[in-house]
Amino acid sequence: MPDFGYKIAKDRQIDYDENKRLIFSEVAAWEPSIYRCISCGTCAATCSAGQYTDYSLRKLILLVKRGEEQEVITNVSKCLLCGKCQLACPMGVNTRNLILGIQNAVKKTTYAV
Ligand code: SF4
Ligand code: SF4
Repeated sequence: MPDFGYKIAKDRQIDYDENKRLIFSEVAAWEPSIYRCISCGTCAATCSAGQYTDYSLRKLILLVKRGEEQEVITNVSKCLLCGKCQLACPMGVNTRNLILGIQNAVKKTTYAV
């Protein structure tokens, strides 16, 4: 391909019909407080793992909701389960149990964590 000095960005459309959202169904049953998340990012700002990696709980929850499961699998094991985010969340999301639920759902849907 000739070098024009720019490249076309990869398509980032999210197809809710295509994405099966199996992990989301499991997680919502396990920890319904996922519905209270407003994507404010407070958890990500206080996150222990986020200080050293590109991990963000805010992003992880969005990925779960959108059904972008391959990215969920890549990111979920980066959490240290320290629970700091739970103290910071303004919406009272039970974040630690939520993350455990995501890890369990990933295993249950036969993906490797
Ligand atoms: S702090 Fe709570 S409401 Fe805000 S993004 Fe994190 S989990 Fe969601
Ligand atoms: S429990 Fe996980 S997401 Fe929450 S602050 Fe600790 S490392 Fe970050």
